[in-house]
Amino acid sequence: MGRKLLLEHINVPGINTLEVYRQKGGYRSVEKALKQMTPEEIVEEVKKSGLRGRGGAGFPTGMKWGFLAKPEGVARYLVCNGDESEPGTFKDRYLMTYIPHALIEGMIVGSFALGAHVSYIYLRGEMMPQIRILEKAIAEAKAAGFLGKNILGTGYDLELYVQPGGGAYICGEETALLESLEGKRGNPRIKPPFPAIAGLYGCPTVVNNVESIAAVVPIINDGGEEYAKIGVGRSTGTKLISAGGNLKKPGVYEIELGLTCEEFVYSDEYCGGIANGKTLKAVVAGGSSVPILPNNLFFKTANGEARLMSYESLSDGGFATGTMLGSGGFIAYDEDQCIVRNTWNFTRFYHHESCGQCSPCREGTGWMEKVLHRLEHGHGKMSDIDLLVDVSKKIEGNTICPLGDAAAWPVASAIRHFRDEFEWHVTHPSEATTRNFGLAHY
Ligand code: NAD
Ligand code: SF4
Repeated sequence: MGRKLLLEHINVPGINTLEVYRQKGGYRSVEKALKQMTPEEIVEEVKKSGLRGRGGAGFPTGMKWGFLAKPEGVARYLVCNGDESEPGTFKDRYLMTYIPHALIEGMIVGSFALGAHVSYIYLRGEMMPQIRILEKAIAEAKAAGFLGKNILGTGYDLELYVQPGGGAYICGEETALLESLEGKRGNPRIKPPFPAIAGLYGCPTVVNNVESIAAVVPIINDGGEEYAKIGVGRSTGTKLISAGGNLKKPGVYEIELGLTCEEFVYSDEYCGGIANGKTLKAVVAGGSSVPILPNNLFFKTANGEARLMSYESLSDGGFATGTMLGSGGFIAYDEDQCIVRNTWNFTRFYHHESCGQCSPCREGTGWMEKVLHRLEHGHGKMSDIDLLVDVSKKIEGNTICPLGDAAAWPVASAIRHFRDEFEWHVTHPSEATTRNFGLAHY
């Protein structure tokens, strides 16, 4: 059994309440951090842990905290990004639903370490149940003296607010989130400056994912070095993976980074194999924004070694033979799934969610959606396939925020690995929409 740091008590009845959460050792890290440690020592522990941002980018959390500017007399903020909207990704929602105090505990320790006295948890607007759960948990924590004025008699003050967004995917991009939190339309800002220098209301701000903030709790309880012993190489600790698609046991799993991809898919501890006795055809390993991989490349790296669930191993070989761990939104496709239909579906999503600020993304996602629609519906031409590759290249790297790349990569990788399936849609127009693709097709 892999070690569980975040979900260890997930099945304990009442773990969503402060009482049971404390019985299981909850809020120890707040006592330790506020009473025995300096903010600098906390940042140092997080650096030692090697924790990398769990929202998708994998940027070292301790380094990000270390970058926070500290001008005299200027407020600093910690903002939790709970906007989780990446297709295939539902691990933060799970954590907030079942163990809300883990996030609140991490927010208190993180806010103290960064010198923030007002902090926010920004959630997507559709997450009404989680908004209520968190508000209730915050009220419990405040009544117990973990929030508000003079926390645990240490003289440290912190107010924590939950702020729902308007339901746009782009508000999960950190600078769009900050615009939205300020009450404006959620348009991404040009970086630099990074939020660590000029974030919320122009003040130094750290924006961290829900899971990253919750991971600070075991890091402070057990020490950064202990945390870093779990995992492989620069991929330390545990990671929540939300597994969906054609799996026997879809759900949210906590894995030790470095687990083999094969074990993750086939062992009974995790996904239990492919549903209905089918064969795995392809995976999207880290949410819809990462390249799709056929099964043979997913289980073995470019060097023929077993591929691991880690930042480095999943991206081994670059985009030609690798993908990314991303947000941990794992989607499995069995032999019957149509890659063209899936790619069209993703592109529809990105076109709908593009904020429209930059033309390669605004126009390019629309063009890709139209071309994929005609291929999927039996009206495509062979030249459409290269046209898609061309448009995706013109978007990639030419936009303000990563949504452009996220829209381009699934299209480019689907054509790279499954070109014959796109061609089949052109040569079999009357069957294109309805036909499933068994492995026999290859
Ligand atoms: P990024 O690499 O630009 O930044 C990562 C983080 O590091 C940011 O917080 C940024 O401010 C900080 N940073 C980077 N360089 C810095 C510097 N020099 N100084 C100070 N801070 C610095 O990536 P991003 O735009 O934050 O995230 C993109 C990722 O988000 C994608 O890879 C995708 O996987 C993921 N994503 C996740 C979801 C979800 O629902 N979880 C949705 C969409 C995208
Ligand atoms: Fe908006 Fe797309 Fe440009 Fe991002 S890449 S700023 S979503 S238009």
